[in-house]
Amino acid sequence: MRFLSTPIANPYTLLPVLTLETPVQFVKGIGPAIAKTLAEKSILTVEDLLLHLPFRYEDRLNPRSLAELQPGETASVIAEVRGAALLRTRSMPLFEMTVGQGTTSMKCLWFHGSWLEGKFHTGQMLALYGKVEASRSGRGLKMIQPQIEVLPEGSDDALDQLLEVGRITPVYESLSGSRLASRWIRRIVWNVLAELQGSISETLPASLRARLDLCSREEALRTIHFPPAGTSMTQLQSAATPAHRRLIFEELFYLELGLEIKRRRFQEKAGVSFETSDQVRAALRSILPFHPTAAQKRALGEIAGDMRRPAPMRRLLQGDVGSGKTIVALQAMLIAIENGYQAALMAPTEILATQHYLSARRVLEKSPKKYRITLLTGSLDDDLKRAARRRIFQGETDLVIGTHALIEERVEFGKLGLVVVDEQHRFGVLQRFRLMKKDGREPDVLVMTATPIPRTLALSLYGDLDLSVLDELPPGRTSILTRQVADERSGEIWTFVRQQVAKGHQAYVVYPVIEGPKDDQPELDFALPEEAPEEESVPKKRALKKVKTEALFERPSPRLPLKSASDMYERLRASELSGLRVGLLHGRLSADDKEVVMRRFQRGEIDVLIATTVIEVGVDVPNATVMVIEHAERFGLAQLHQLRGRVGRGAAKSYCILLTGSRPTPHAEERLAAMVRTQDGFELAELDLALRGPGEFFGTRQAGLPGFRIASLVRDRKLLELAREEASRFPELPEVTAAEKAMVRARLKEAWQRRYGLAEAG
Ligand code: ADP
Ligand code: MG
Repeated sequence: MRFLSTPIANPYTLLPVLTLETPVQFVKGIGPAIAKTLAEKSILTVEDLLLHLPFRYEDRLNPRSLAELQPGETASVIAEVRGAALLRTRSMPLFEMTVGQGTTSMKCLWFHGSWLEGKFHTGQMLALYGKVEASRSGRGLKMIQPQIEVLPEGSDDALDQLLEVGRITPVYESLSGSRLASRWIRRIVWNVLAELQGSISETLPASLRARLDLCSREEALRTIHFPPAGTSMTQLQSAATPAHRRLIFEELFYLELGLEIKRRRFQEKAGVSFETSDQVRAALRSILPFHPTAAQKRALGEIAGDMRRPAPMRRLLQGDVGSGKTIVALQAMLIAIENGYQAALMAPTEILATQHYLSARRVLEKSPKKYRITLLTGSLDDDLKRAARRRIFQGETDLVIGTHALIEERVEFGKLGLVVVDEQHRFGVLQRFRLMKKDGREPDVLVMTATPIPRTLALSLYGDLDLSVLDELPPGRTSILTRQVADERSGEIWTFVRQQVAKGHQAYVVYPVIEGPKDDQPELDFALPEEAPEEESVPKKRALKKVKTEALFERPSPRLPLKSASDMYERLRASELSGLRVGLLHGRLSADDKEVVMRRFQRGEIDVLIATTVIEVGVDVPNATVMVIEHAERFGLAQLHQLRGRVGRGAAKSYCILLTGSRPTPHAEERLAAMVRTQDGFELAELDLALRGPGEFFGTRQAGLPGFRIASLVRDRKLLELAREEASRFPELPEVTAAEKAMVRARLKEAWQRRYGLAEAG
C-alpha cells in the first residue's frame, strides 16, 4: 500500500515533499479534521484532490453585461448589490435582492430565503449564475435562486484577486456544505499545483500521446483547473478542451486496457472445442420452425465459430424484444448437446424459465432424437429437486432450464458445455456467475440481453465479451399503435378490449402493484426502483429552504390512489369485462399457479390477463394484440418498451394503451411521448439513458459498472471507442518502450484495484 511508505522529509519546511501520492492531510491548509471530511468523498491523496474537477467555469475575464442578457439563457454575471430585503409573503419568506451594473439592474429571488438575511451589503460585488427570466412586468430581468459567490473587495489578499476575478474561474462542487466550497478549493488546488510544478508524472506513453494529440498530464491538470485566457468557454462547459480530452481518454483507456487483458487471459483458458459436422448441422436444421432472419443466421454463425474454437466463448447476444433470440440460443445449445455435452439455460424468473422449458420442448420435439430436458425451479419439492440434481450430475439430462439462482448455487454438472444466460434487461449476472463443473474445462457462455444498449456502451459495460446483434425483426410484424389516454376515458378502452376479444384476440392489462392501498408493494419480481427516487425527491414542506427551484416545479400533483392488479381483477371481471375469461398473474402466486395461468393464456383459454410486470419479460403469446398499461406514468422507459413488446408478435394489428392517472411529471411526460412517437428500442434506450443517467440506467449497484471520475458514458462515447481501439492493440505496439509498458502495467493494477476492486487485472 502506498500509504505505508514514509513521506520523505524536506529539511527546509519539515513538511513532506508533495507528490500526487501524498495523503491530503499533509497539504498546507488541510489538517486531519478536514482530511477526514475529504475522505468521505473518497479524496485521500493529492491526486484525488486534483481529480475533483470543476463542474463549470465562469468567465470573469470577459463578464457578460446585464444589458445584453436575454430571457431564457443561463448565464453568469458579475454585478454589485443595490439592495436586499426579506419579504414575508403569505406562503413563505422570500429573499429579494437587486443587483446592478451601471444603469442596468436585475432582481434575484430566493424562496424560503431567510437564511440569506443580513449576509449582503450595498456595493458588494457578486458573481451570480442562473437562468435569466423576464420579470413579471415584462420590462426587467430576474433570476430565481441563482448560485452566488461574493467576490473579494479591495486588494488585501493577492491570491483572492488572482483566483476570483479577472480570469476564467473554476466552480467546484462543494466538498462539505458551505465550508469547503469553490473558493476554498481554488486556493488549495492553486497552491498544490504551484508546489507540484514540473513533477507531475506522465501516465500515457509518449508515442500514444503524440499520435492522438493529447497534452501532457501536468498541462492537463493545470489548465483544467485554471484555464488560460482565451480558452473556449463552449469547450470548457462541455468538457471538450484538450485538457478534458486528455484526462477523459486516460480514464477510459485504463478501463478498456483492463478489460482487454481480462479477455486475453480468458482466451488462454481451456474450453471445449465443439464440432459442427454435417450431422450437427442437420440436427440444427431439423428443429427450425421458420426461416431464420439474416441477423439470426449471422449471430448463429458467430456463436458456432466461437464454439468451434478451443478457447471458451464469452458472447453477448443483443436483440430488441421480439427479435428472435430464443431460437438462436436453442440452436447453440443443440450444438453442445449433439457433441455429447450438457447445456444450461438460466432465466431471470420462474415464469420465464417455465416458458423457455415449454418452448424448448415444443421445438426439440420436432427432432427424431429424444433430447432429455430438465426444468429446475424453486417451487419443485425437495425430492424432485434432488432427483433433478442427480440426473444433471450423472449426465442423464441434456438440457437444464431454470432460474439463475437455482442453477448457479447448488447444481453440479456431469459434462457442461454451454451456458446460456437470459438476463433480458438486467445486468450483472455474469460478474457473479459461477457454476460447479466436474471436469476442469470452462463452459462456453452466451448472455442474451433485450436492452438495446448502444454498441459502444455495450462494449464498455461488457468489454470482455464479444457482441452479436440481432438488428432485424422476423418478417410479418406489424407496427404497434400506441396511444396515451387519460384515466377518465378508460371506459372507452374496456369497450375496445371487448371488441378485440370478440375478434378472437387476447389482451394484457398491467398494473404497477399487486394489491391495493393496504400494501403499496410494487411487483417484487421486476419493478425497477426507478420511479421511487423521483417521488422521494419531492421536497417535504419543511426541507424546502435550500432546494433548487427546478425541484419545486417538478413536483407531481397529489397521488391518486394506486389501482392494483388484484383489486382491478375483481372489478373488471364483475363489471367492465364481465362475460370475458379474465385471468390474474403476479409474482406472489405460487409457481404452480403462475404456470397454470400462463399456460391457459397461451392456449387461448384466458381472454384478458390482468398482471403486474411479471409479464414484462419474455412472455410470448402471438395472439395477444392489446397491451393496456394503467398508471403508465409510473413505469420506466425500459419497462414500458418491454411491456409493449408482448404484443405485435403475430400478424394482426396490435395496440398499446398508456393510461395515465395522476398528472405525470415532466420526465414521465417525456417517457410517454417517446413511447407514442417511436418503437425503436435503440432510440428509447438513448432517451432513457439521457433521462436517468448511466448509473440508474444500468443499475450500477448490481452491475458493478465502473464509476467514472471524469468520463461520462453518454457524453464521451467517441473517446470510449477510441480508448477501446487503442487498448486492444496496445500490448503489441512496437513504439512503446519497455519502461513505458511497465509504467502502464503498474498504473493499471492500481487503477483497477482502486476503482473497480478487481485485483485480478494487472
Ligand atoms: P426475443 O428476442 O424477444 O426473445 P423470441 O425469441 O421470443 O424473441 O421471438 C419472438 C417471436 O418471434 C416468437 O414467437 C418466435 O417464435 C418468433 N420468431 C423468431 N424468429 C422468427 C423468424 N425468423 N421468423 C418468424 N418468426 C420468428
Ligand atoms: Mg426472449
